[in-house]
Amino acid sequence: MTNTQHNAQPSRQIVYSTPGMPASDGDGVKMTRIIGTPHLDMLDPFLMLDCFESDQPQDYIGGFPDHPHRGFETVTYMLAGRMRHKDSMGNEGVIAAHGVQWMRAGKGIVHSEMPEQESGLLKGFQLWVNLPSKDKMCEPAYQEFVANDLALQMREDGGQVRVVAGHTNEGTVGPVTREDIKPIFMDVNLPAGGTFTQAIKAGDSAFIYAISGDVLVGDEQVLCTRQLGILGEGTSVTITACETKAQFLLVAATPINEPVARGGPFVMNTKEQVMQAFNDYRNNRF
Ligand code: FE
Repeated sequence: MTNTQHNAQPSRQIVYSTPGMPASDGDGVKMTRIIGTPHLDMLDPFLMLDCFESDQPQDYIGGFPDHPHRGFETVTYMLAGRMRHKDSMGNEGVIAAHGVQWMRAGKGIVHSEMPEQESGLLKGFQLWVNLPSKDKMCEPAYQEFVANDLALQMREDGGQVRVVAGHTNEGTVGPVTREDIKPIFMDVNLPAGGTFTQAIKAGDSAFIYAISGDVLVGDEQVLCTRQLGILGEGTSVTITACETKAQFLLVAATPINEPVARGGPFVMNTKEQVMQAFNDYRNNRF
């Protein structure tokens, strides 16, 4: 293929895929860690992606008791069951199915996240999104929306797109915004054979996570259920449900391109800043 032809192909293809690996966090919550593993350390600005899914309450009922965060944002998106959250500033609420909490930890927040079962099933995601150095010590803030407040696009083929952030090619706009990295976060349901096309800005990091069903990405690559596929360069992506209906997340954002220093629940630019965070937490300065 010549360069000219290559440049004329704006459609993104999968350049890497991974199923993630089993992990345990909080008080023994079993999950699959998909970003933030030895195989996939990060996908700037995404620091971590966990998928929790179980119909066995003992896998998750210990939840995530009080713990701190500093320097980034946590995004919790539920598909089934509920997550009750409570923070050190007195905020409390419940994230239910198809609800989202996009929490900016900023200079520091201490919170608990406790699963509540619904017919035994708990299923959802937590994504960590980095903040640039200028915002790491900002005031904490929430963008939180229940299912009915998310934008829902009904498709002619019977599929639907829940838009948490970004806007679809058809103009449906999600309620969560972040000016610097302009995220896309969409939960897409397609019938067998249905095709979804989405513009993604050149240079932005992007991934698809296949929640159920296999999907064809671009012209020839199949992403199987429970796999994350990183999208390569291009200005759009086309995704087709294969033999069965399919559900997937499509997530994208502009990279921050700054040094990343991690220490458990703190993500800063330098090791010294991480040490400072541990000190501040120990000395009740959160
Ligand atoms: Fe947390």
